[in-house]
Amino acid sequence: MTLRWRLTIAFVLVVLVPLLLGLVLASRAFPDAVQARQKTGVVSSTRLVGAVLQDYCDRAKTAAEAAGRAATTTGPAGARAAAGSLVARGLADGIRVVTGADGATGAVVAKAGRVPVQPEDCGGEPSTGAAGPYLSAVVVLTTANGRAAGSAVATFDVSGRLLTRLQQAIGEGDVVLVGSTGRVVAGTKRFRPQVIRDSFSDPPGTRLYGLVSSYLPSARGQAYGVVVLQPAAQGPGLLVDAGAVVVVAVLLAVGIAVISARATTQPLEELGEAAARIASGDLSTVIEVRSKDEVGRLAGAFNAMTEDLRGYVGQLEASRDELQAGLARLGDTLSSTHDLDRILHVVLESAMASTRASGGMVLLLTPSRDELVLAASRGVDVPLDLRLSVGEGVSGQVALSGDPVRGRVGHGPGELRPAEGEPVETSLIAVPLKSSGTVIGVLDLFGSVLPAGFDDNDLATIRTFASQATVAVDNVLLHEEAQRLSITDGLTGLWNYRYFTMTVSKEIERAARFARPLALLMLDLDHFKDVNDTFGHQRGDAVLVELAGRIRGEVRDVDTVARYGGEEIVVILPETDEAGAVQLAERICHAVSRKPFGEPGVPPVHLTVSAGAAVFPAHGLAASVLLARADEALYAAKRSGRNTWRLSDGVAAATHLPD
Ligand code: GH3
Ligand code: MG
Ligand code: MG
Repeated sequence: MTLRWRLTIAFVLVVLVPLLLGLVLASRAFPDAVQARQKTGVVSSTRLVGAVLQDYCDRAKTAAEAAGRAATTTGPAGARAAAGSLVARGLADGIRVVTGADGATGAVVAKAGRVPVQPEDCGGEPSTGAAGPYLSAVVVLTTANGRAAGSAVATFDVSGRLLTRLQQAIGEGDVVLVGSTGRVVAGTKRFRPQVIRDSFSDPPGTRLYGLVSSYLPSARGQAYGVVVLQPAAQGPGLLVDAGAVVVVAVLLAVGIAVISARATTQPLEELGEAAARIASGDLSTVIEVRSKDEVGRLAGAFNAMTEDLRGYVGQLEASRDELQAGLARLGDTLSSTHDLDRILHVVLESAMASTRASGGMVLLLTPSRDELVLAASRGVDVPLDLRLSVGEGVSGQVALSGDPVRGRVGHGPGELRPAEGEPVETSLIAVPLKSSGTVIGVLDLFGSVLPAGFDDNDLATIRTFASQATVAVDNVLLHEEAQRLSITDGLTGLWNYRYFTMTVSKEIERAARFARPLALLMLDLDHFKDVNDTFGHQRGDAVLVELAGRIRGEVRDVDTVARYGGEEIVVILPETDEAGAVQLAERICHAVSRKPFGEPGVPPVHLTVSAGAAVFPAHGLAASVLLARADEALYAAKRSGRNTWRLSDGVAAATHLPD
């Protein structure tokens, strides 16, 4: 169920519960009040009827007196006239004047209208009602000396007009007149005898047979008892009204409840929708703050939260982009280059970025594994030729122990002691670069931009990173080694045949382009087979190693000395003409023959070498041609007795250089 529905129901209940309670209470109290009022009404109606009856009794008495007076003063004629006039004027329904001491037996002197034969005086004892529906007043006529002279009777018929008057006087209900014996004399309506009998005994206002009745017994001056009957007042009409009020109230309450619930929940719904939009990633959502109430404050707080969120997301995206860029750079570098220097700089940059370090350096162990040499640095002031013995300073300690350290570099208590040249007074993380468990270098990061320095997270990050970086560095070192091995001769350390062929074409090309001379020298030890045969192959190998050293000692840095075959060596001499080539050939022959081969303590081996030289462009323009010419010259030298050299085209050695 939605909040709007709950609020609507709550509003409706708040209005309806008191209303219904009131209604229940009213519906209980109301009939009592109605009944009480009706009881009062019916009782007073009864009294009113009684009073009217008395009034009519008085009127009848007045009319009877008037007729009697006329009879005593003016005689029978006057009495007749008076009686006729009184009835005609409606002051009585009937008049009868009787003479004689006994009114009942005397002669009737005047009569008008209807009069009962034996009238009962309404001012005397209550009427039994047996005399019929009449209300009569009887006046005794006396003579001057006070003797009874007759009687005058005035009568009202209680069944007709008078009854209507009585009903009109009470307004609502019916009037029933009863005699003192309980006999019904007249009534505006006929009721069952039981109803009338019950009304005598029931307290006034009792509801019975759907009626409310009240009984006023006859009394002196009021000839008849009066019963007033009214239909019992019913609540239904009022209850219907109340029901209608409730229905209207319910409709109103529901209407107001729906409107106010909507007014209350609308902003919340907007908030909910905004939250859903934000949850789906739309951080540009801004909620309109319409009021200063709780919802308004909530909307404001929501907007502030969204703005913060935008900030965080922005930072996150920026650092993600930075990381991606760093990773891409690292990946590119690692996969596309075997340039150690570049890799170390990218490693350093990435490590600094991920720990927010202000500077860093990478030191690599020398092949001898006893010294660290600075290989890359950034953002720190360190000597470019920094070298640290293993165990020396912070980096040396890390290389020695193979464990990372984190802390502050300085000379105070608890600080990491730096070696000469290492950065000082700064925070530091130093991690070993380990390849298959062996330390190959140390990565140092300095000066975190955070005031607290580097934390454990930084250390964990950089340890993970260092192991990745080590793989890359190790790969480069391996690659460099493989590269070196692929172009050098394993025994002598000279360039191998492969490298020679690559280099000779390049050098010839260069010489051709710049119109410069270039010489090739082919060397072959004389009777080397004898060394093997006499001293064994191992000794022969050692001789070859020593030979390589001796030749290298005679050439320039720009010259290329390569092992061409078994004990044949070829030398490329850029910028060298025939004279230069001859001169070098002479020097090499001398360097070989000058002293025996072998370390002190082993039998010396006396050796000589023969050489053949060819020069670009005089003896050929292509490498293969030059090589063939030099080879021919070498054989010429061999043929001419060895321990000498020959220039291509059979040009003989002019001189031997002095020893
Ligand atoms: P010369 O050149 O004076 O004609 O005589 P030689 O005995 O030196 O003959 P050649 O140059 O034809 O012989 C080459 C010998 O060098 C054959 C082999 O025993 C030896 N040799 C070639 N390569 C190696 C090597 O790597 N180690 C050793 N120990 N001997 C080698
Ligand atoms: Mg040979
Ligand atoms: Mg030889």
